[in-house]
Amino acid sequence: MAGIEVQRLFFALWPEEVVRRGLADLQRQVTVDRARAVAVANLHATLVFLGACDAAQRLCAEGVAERSVGRRFDLAVDQYGFWRRPQVLWAGSAQTPPTLFDLVAQLRAGLAGCGFTVETRPFETHITLFRKVRKMPLVPNISASPLSWPVRSFALVTSVTDPAGARYQVLREWRLA
Ligand code: ATP
Ligand code: MG
Repeated sequence: MAGIEVQRLFFALWPEEVVRRGLADLQRQVTVDRARAVAVANLHATLVFLGACDAAQRLCAEGVAERSVGRRFDLAVDQYGFWRRPQVLWAGSAQTPPTLFDLVAQLRAGLAGCGFTVETRPFETHITLFRKVRKMPLVPNISASPLSWPVRSFALVTSVTDPAGARYQVLREWRLA
Protein backbone atom coordinates (compact mmCIF):
# COMPACT_ATOMS: atom_id res chain seq x y z
CA MET A 1 0.00 0.00 0.00
CA ALA A 2 3.06 2.25 -0.22
CA GLY A 3 2.17 5.72 -1.43
CA ILE A 4 -1.57 5.31 -0.94
CA GLU A 5 -2.76 7.67 1.77
CA VAL A 6 -6.12 6.64 3.19
CA GLN A 7 -8.11 8.65 5.71
CA ARG A 8 -11.28 7.73 7.57
CA LEU A 9 -13.64 10.65 6.89
CA PHE A 10 -17.10 11.93 7.72
CA PHE A 11 -19.09 15.14 7.37
CA ALA A 12 -20.36 16.52 10.66
CA LEU A 13 -21.75 19.43 12.58
CA TRP A 14 -18.86 20.36 14.81
CA PRO A 15 -19.83 22.30 17.98
CA GLU A 16 -18.14 25.46 19.14
CA GLU A 17 -16.83 25.48 22.70
CA VAL A 18 -20.00 26.83 24.36
CA VAL A 19 -22.21 24.26 22.68
CA ARG A 20 -19.67 21.54 23.39
CA ARG A 21 -19.91 22.38 27.09
CA GLY A 22 -23.69 22.24 26.84
CA LEU A 23 -23.49 18.79 25.25
CA ALA A 24 -21.08 17.69 27.98
CA ASP A 25 -23.69 18.82 30.53
CA LEU A 26 -26.28 16.65 28.80
CA GLN A 27 -23.82 13.76 28.98
CA ARG A 28 -23.24 14.36 32.69
CA GLN A 29 -26.96 14.29 33.38
CA VAL A 30 -27.21 10.58 32.70
CA THR A 31 -25.60 7.59 34.36
CA VAL A 32 -25.09 4.50 32.24
CA ASP A 33 -23.71 1.32 33.73
CA ARG A 34 -20.72 -0.25 31.98
CA ALA A 35 -21.06 2.07 29.00
CA ARG A 36 -18.30 4.10 27.35
CA ALA A 37 -18.73 7.88 27.43
CA VAL A 38 -17.71 9.71 24.27
CA ALA A 39 -14.78 12.04 25.02
CA VAL A 40 -16.08 15.60 25.30
CA ALA A 41 -13.61 16.74 22.63
CA ASN A 42 -15.18 14.19 20.25
CA LEU A 43 -18.85 15.20 20.61
CA HIS A 44 -20.42 15.97 17.21
CA ALA A 45 -23.38 15.23 14.96
CA THR A 46 -22.53 13.09 11.94
CA LEU A 47 -24.10 14.21 8.67
CA VAL A 48 -22.66 11.59 6.32
CA PHE A 49 -20.12 8.88 7.06
CA LEU A 50 -17.63 8.31 4.23
CA GLY A 51 -15.25 5.75 5.66
CA ALA A 52 -11.77 5.11 4.26
CA CYS A 53 -10.97 7.57 1.48
CA ASP A 54 -7.98 8.01 -0.78
CA ALA A 55 -6.90 11.45 -2.02
CA ALA A 56 -9.17 11.35 -5.08
CA GLN A 57 -12.23 10.38 -3.05
CA ARG A 58 -11.50 13.13 -0.53
CA LEU A 59 -11.17 15.66 -3.34
CA CYS A 60 -14.49 14.59 -4.83
CA ALA A 61 -16.16 14.83 -1.41
CA GLU A 62 -14.73 18.31 -0.85
CA GLY A 63 -16.11 19.36 -4.23
CA VAL A 64 -19.54 18.16 -3.17
CA ALA A 65 -19.32 20.20 0.03
CA GLU A 66 -18.13 23.22 -1.92
CA ARG A 67 -21.07 23.03 -4.31
CA SER A 68 -23.71 22.39 -1.68
CA VAL A 69 -25.96 25.30 -0.85
CA GLY A 70 -26.80 25.30 2.83
CA ARG A 71 -28.52 27.83 5.02
CA ARG A 72 -27.71 28.47 8.67
CA PHE A 73 -30.16 27.26 11.29
CA ASP A 74 -30.57 26.76 15.01
CA LEU A 75 -30.70 23.19 16.22
CA ALA A 76 -32.75 22.49 19.34
CA VAL A 77 -31.19 19.60 21.23
CA ASP A 78 -34.30 18.64 23.11
CA GLN A 79 -34.33 14.89 23.67
CA TYR A 80 -32.33 11.81 24.53
CA GLY A 81 -32.61 8.68 22.48
CA PHE A 82 -31.36 5.11 22.54
CA TRP A 83 -30.60 2.78 19.64
CA ARG A 84 -30.46 -0.82 20.67
CA ARG A 85 -28.56 -2.34 17.76
CA PRO A 86 -25.62 0.11 17.63
CA GLN A 87 -25.93 0.38 21.44
CA VAL A 88 -25.73 4.16 21.61
CA LEU A 89 -27.35 6.73 23.82
CA TRP A 90 -27.61 10.07 22.06
CA ALA A 91 -28.94 13.58 22.39
CA GLY A 92 -30.76 15.09 19.46
CA SER A 93 -33.69 16.93 18.01
CA ALA A 94 -37.27 15.80 17.95
CA GLN A 95 -37.69 17.94 14.82
CA THR A 96 -34.76 18.06 12.43
CA PRO A 97 -34.83 21.49 10.72
CA PRO A 98 -35.80 21.21 7.01
CA THR A 99 -32.63 23.10 6.09
CA LEU A 100 -30.57 20.33 7.70
CA PHE A 101 -32.49 17.59 5.87
CA ASP A 102 -31.85 19.53 2.69
CA LEU A 103 -28.11 19.85 3.33
CA VAL A 104 -27.79 16.13 4.06
CA ALA A 105 -29.79 15.30 0.92
CA GLN A 106 -27.43 17.42 -1.19
CA LEU A 107 -24.37 15.79 0.35
CA ARG A 108 -25.76 12.27 -0.09
CA ALA A 109 -26.68 12.89 -3.73
CA GLY A 110 -23.33 14.46 -4.57
CA LEU A 111 -21.37 11.77 -2.75
CA ALA A 112 -23.26 9.03 -4.56
CA GLY A 113 -21.98 10.71 -7.71
CA CYS A 114 -18.45 10.32 -6.35
CA GLY A 115 -19.07 6.60 -6.02
CA PHE A 116 -19.69 6.48 -2.27
CA THR A 117 -22.28 4.08 -0.94
CA VAL A 118 -24.37 6.49 1.05
CA GLU A 119 -27.01 5.94 3.70
CA THR A 120 -30.53 5.71 2.31
CA ARG A 121 -32.40 5.63 5.62
CA PRO A 122 -33.98 8.92 6.69
CA PHE A 123 -31.48 11.22 8.39
CA GLU A 124 -31.81 11.51 12.16
CA THR A 125 -30.03 14.27 14.03
CA HIS A 126 -28.08 12.70 16.86
CA ILE A 127 -25.04 13.39 18.99
CA THR A 128 -23.72 10.14 20.43
CA LEU A 129 -23.06 10.53 24.16
CA PHE A 130 -22.38 6.92 25.21
CA ARG A 131 -21.49 3.72 23.42
CA LYS A 132 -21.92 0.10 24.51
CA VAL A 133 -25.23 0.95 26.13
CA ARG A 134 -27.28 -2.19 26.75
CA LYS A 135 -30.59 -0.67 27.65
CA MET A 136 -32.20 2.74 27.81
CA PRO A 137 -31.19 4.39 31.10
CA LEU A 138 -33.24 6.90 33.01
CA VAL A 139 -32.89 10.27 31.34
CA PRO A 140 -34.17 13.69 32.29
CA ASN A 141 -36.81 15.36 30.16
CA ILE A 142 -35.09 18.28 28.48
CA SER A 143 -37.82 19.26 26.05
CA ALA A 144 -38.82 22.26 28.15
CA SER A 145 -35.27 23.64 28.28
CA PRO A 146 -33.49 22.49 25.13
CA LEU A 147 -29.90 23.30 24.29
CA SER A 148 -29.86 25.72 21.37
CA TRP A 149 -27.05 25.01 18.92
CA PRO A 150 -26.55 27.81 16.38
CA VAL A 151 -25.26 25.96 13.31
CA ARG A 152 -23.28 28.22 10.99
CA SER A 153 -21.03 25.73 9.23
CA PHE A 154 -20.39 22.07 8.64
CA ALA A 155 -17.10 20.21 8.63
CA LEU A 156 -15.11 17.44 7.02
CA VAL A 157 -13.61 15.44 9.87
CA THR A 158 -11.05 12.67 9.99
CA SER A 159 -11.14 9.91 12.56
CA VAL A 160 -7.79 8.68 13.81
CA THR A 161 -7.71 5.52 15.86
CA ASP A 162 -5.31 5.83 18.79
CA PRO A 163 -4.71 3.11 21.36
CA ALA A 164 -6.89 5.23 23.66
CA GLY A 165 -9.75 5.24 21.13
CA ALA A 166 -10.92 7.36 18.21
CA ARG A 167 -9.77 10.96 17.99
CA TYR A 168 -11.37 13.36 15.53
CA GLN A 169 -9.77 16.23 13.69
CA VAL A 170 -11.57 18.87 11.62
CA LEU A 171 -9.92 19.12 8.20
CA ARG A 172 -12.10 21.77 6.57
CA GLU A 173 -15.23 23.77 7.28
CA TRP A 174 -17.82 25.31 4.99
CA ARG A 175 -19.90 28.29 6.06
CA LEU A 176 -23.66 28.20 5.70
CA ALA A 177 -25.33 31.22 4.13
P1 ATP B 1 -14.54 3.54 17.08
O1 ATP B 1 -15.21 3.04 15.82
O2 ATP B 1 -13.06 3.54 16.98
O3 ATP B 1 -15.07 2.92 18.31
P2 ATP B 1 -15.98 5.94 16.53
O4 ATP B 1 -17.17 5.12 16.15
O5 ATP B 1 -16.17 7.13 17.40
O6 ATP B 1 -14.89 5.07 17.25
P3 ATP B 1 -15.59 6.15 13.73
O7 ATP B 1 -15.99 4.72 13.59
O8 ATP B 1 -14.43 6.63 12.94
O9 ATP B 1 -15.26 6.48 15.23
O10 ATP B 1 -16.86 7.02 13.39
C1 ATP B 1 -16.82 8.39 13.11
C2 ATP B 1 -18.25 8.91 13.10
O11 ATP B 1 -18.98 8.29 12.04
C3 ATP B 1 -19.05 8.59 14.36
O12 ATP B 1 -20.02 9.60 14.55
C4 ATP B 1 -19.73 7.30 14.03
O13 ATP B 1 -20.93 7.13 14.77
C5 ATP B 1 -20.04 7.49 12.56
N1 ATP B 1 -20.03 6.22 11.85
C6 ATP B 1 -19.08 5.28 11.90
N2 ATP B 1 -19.37 4.24 11.12
C7 ATP B 1 -20.55 4.53 10.52
C8 ATP B 1 -21.39 3.86 9.57
N3 ATP B 1 -21.08 2.68 9.05
N4 ATP B 1 -22.54 4.48 9.22
C9 ATP B 1 -22.87 5.67 9.70
N5 ATP B 1 -22.13 6.36 10.59
C10 ATP B 1 -20.98 5.80 11.01
MG1 MG C 1 -17.17 3.41 14.88
